[in-house]
Amino acid sequence: MKILKAYKYRLKPTDEQVNLLYRMAGCGRVVFNESLEMLLSIARKELSFVGDKKALYNELNSLLPKDRITLAKKFPSSAALNKHLTQWKKKTELSFLTEAYTDNLQQRQRDLRDRAVKDWCSGKRGFPVFRTRKLAHHSTLRFVNFPKYCRLEGRHAKLPNGLGLMRYYQSQPIQGLPKSCTVTLDPCGNWHLSILCEVEIEPARTGTGAVGIDMGVAKNMTLSNGVVYKGVSSFATHRDKLAKEQRRLSRKVRGSANWKKQKQKVARLHKRIADIRYDYQQKATTEISKTHAMVAVEALKVANMSRSAKGTVDDPGKNVRQKSGLNRSILDQGWGELRRQLEYKMTWNGGLLIAVPPHHTSQTCPACLHVSAENRTSQASFACVHCGLVENADVVGAINVLNRGLAALESAA
Ligand SMILES: [Zn+2]
Repeated sequence: MKILKAYKYRLKPTDEQVNLLYRMAGCGRVVFNESLEMLLSIARKELSFVGDKKALYNELNSLLPKDRITLAKKFPSSAALNKHLTQWKKKTELSFLTEAYTDNLQQRQRDLRDRAVKDWCSGKRGFPVFRTRKLAHHSTLRFVNFPKYCRLEGRHAKLPNGLGLMRYYQSQPIQGLPKSCTVTLDPCGNWHLSILCEVEIEPARTGTGAVGIDMGVAKNMTLSNGVVYKGVSSFATHRDKLAKEQRRLSRKVRGSANWKKQKQKVARLHKRIADIRYDYQQKATTEISKTHAMVAVEALKVANMSRSAKGTVDDPGKNVRQKSGLNRSILDQGWGELRRQLEYKMTWNGGLLIAVPPHHTSQTCPACLHVSAENRTSQASFACVHCGLVENADVVGAINVLNRGLAALESAA
């Protein structure tokens, strides 16, 4: 079986290379924004809209999904946008684009048309916004055809478009065939190289048996066999420090040397919080996927749950404060990321991840299947009013998830 595996390394570009990277990223932004401007003017015409840009965005984001899809059909395809690129290069004010790396510019147009616009159509995100220099993750450079344009030479990576050999820290050896790579800038100002490799693997089944997982706020994961992964809540533990550093930042003069220094400090703290969480998630999901052949989880819509607190202008979310507290906990628990990791690790190990409908998993008795809110005597305990089963509430949830997963398997067979 062939899988795609990503390797990420810290780059050590020379000053000259850094300048070139920024210039390339800048060209990518210009092309993204020019293309977006084009889509906006089409939208304006199609909707016969009169008003400023902000009002237009409000209008676009209030469209129903089916109207979004209808409008998106009027937009040029990414291939058509790529053709416009050739025209733009001939314009005097955009002539600097002729020196840019065309593959990367075209990729940015695909990012806009094939990803950002589609996410808007499906209601996942708002209409794409203009890219500014401020946001680091907008400085992404993608080199799609690795075998043709790039290669690895010892401690250096050879990159196209005059970047040449760039030193990188090979923290772990690469396996498989490099297919593409991405150069990104993190909020701390460091450049990274991610290489996507195609690796041939033998699905090795070390674990047997099936397990269900209940994902919770107080306890990150409870398994149907009673094993508990408490989680790290790295955000909660760093909250006070983060608040302190952010207050310090707000007292400094925006743009000053001290402000920039403090901003880096905040960015590093954010990264540390994310690293701790990621490390825990990696360890937990590796352990679970190695020891089981089938894992069942609840199909939770994390994005929706964490968005609901904001509400809309007409219907401001109820209990905004309480909910946003819960949201921070949900994000800290990282359920979406856990599911993503479990999914690919189960595949690597030749196992299976099943997502089951989540309704009533906490109120159903796994012994007699009686469903009642009264079964749940408290947040932590479960006592069936019908058959008298007494069990930890999270374990009950996990057992129900497992049973649903097994039932789904049976009906599929
Ligand atoms: Zn019962």
